[in-house]
Amino acid sequence: MKIASARLILCSPDRNFVTLRIETDEGIYGLGDATLNGRELAVAAYLEEHVIPCLIGRDPFAIEDIWQYLYRGAYWRRGPVTMSAIAAVDVALWDIKAKALDTPLYNLLGGKSRQGMLVYAHANGADIPGAIESVKRHIDQGYLAIRVQSGVPGVNASYGVPKGGKAYEPAERGLPSESLWSTERYLNFAPKLFEAVRMEVGEDIHLLHDLHHRLTPIEAARLGKSLEPYHLFWMEDPTPAENQDGFRLIRQHTTTPVATGEVFNSFWDAHDLIRNQWIDYLRMTIVHGGGITALKKAADFAAVYQVRTGFHGATDLSPVTMAAALHLGIAIHNFGIQEHMPHTPLADQVFPHHYRYEGGYMDPGDAPGLGVSIDEDLAGQYPYQRAYLPVARKLDGTLTDW
Ligand SMILES: [Mg+2]
Repeated sequence: MKIASARLILCSPDRNFVTLRIETDEGIYGLGDATLNGRELAVAAYLEEHVIPCLIGRDPFAIEDIWQYLYRGAYWRRGPVTMSAIAAVDVALWDIKAKALDTPLYNLLGGKSRQGMLVYAHANGADIPGAIESVKRHIDQGYLAIRVQSGVPGVNASYGVPKGGKAYEPAERGLPSESLWSTERYLNFAPKLFEAVRMEVGEDIHLLHDLHHRLTPIEAARLGKSLEPYHLFWMEDPTPAENQDGFRLIRQHTTTPVATGEVFNSFWDAHDLIRNQWIDYLRMTIVHGGGITALKKAADFAAVYQVRTGFHGATDLSPVTMAAALHLGIAIHNFGIQEHMPHTPLADQVFPHHYRYEGGYMDPGDAPGLGVSIDEDLAGQYPYQRAYLPVARKLDGTLTDW
């Protein structure tokens, strides 16, 4: 079998997705997700101009060799654009191989090592009563783990809070919007939020919280300590992780478990965090981290240090990446939890898929390959539109991490 052609499908069914379709001379095709939220066309150009011409005529079963060819062969390494492009190729090749062997992809990754995958949902509210109401709605849908975000009094447009009662969706068409942030007000408010939520929902539901890289290490340490009575499943992205050593300080002060890595694009972003056991969950995602080939290696390294996975699974990843995460997660032993932020019905229609949610768990389904296809006619009705994530400023106007 040889790779005969490859092309990109750009579409925007409620949000932008870049999809790579690789065709073989035997009629089998594979799909890969190349979506880099807010920088979509950079990855599309990287693939079209520099990667696709190198793929034609290659053996699609030689996944490791093609991964190394694209990574080492480019001389320039890492970065979200490069690694998202490599991931798209990698996932499409795994899809082709599993389809050619007529088996679900997880069987090529070791087979199922659990019956279902615990997932967490997003609960958001403008204030504490709104957040509690949202948590209860998700409990009614069977979720066993719930991320809770709430508006902070005195802070306009807090992270994680939807506008106009819609599902939370940060990417907006047009130029980036700006929101305000006050660490001081947030640090005083967050323990009150989780005290109130625990009082209402009891001890059994897993509660998670995203700090979105907004704190310094010592601020994150204070927050983790103040949240210990409410025994969070994790606090996520407590501080920017470029300086991996910052997590040492957090760890010295709190037993609240730490998850990080949704913006990582290389194993080396996580290396010190894992080997020093400064984190408990690795949030790297298949699409931005170099694909299944790269994430399998990162997960296996993490397993040695009892660090588990918590793959990013927001709607900025297409259903192709969600399927890939579920196939990998159900196979590896150190799976921890999977983020589940459902796509809109329109996005689900554009990407028909076999994975499913039921009673707090997800399952990749048993169709050969990834179990995801794309309705190109429908996708064609929703062309790409420029969109950005917001940016955040502190109350004095200083730009800060969003
Ligand atoms: Mg996050």
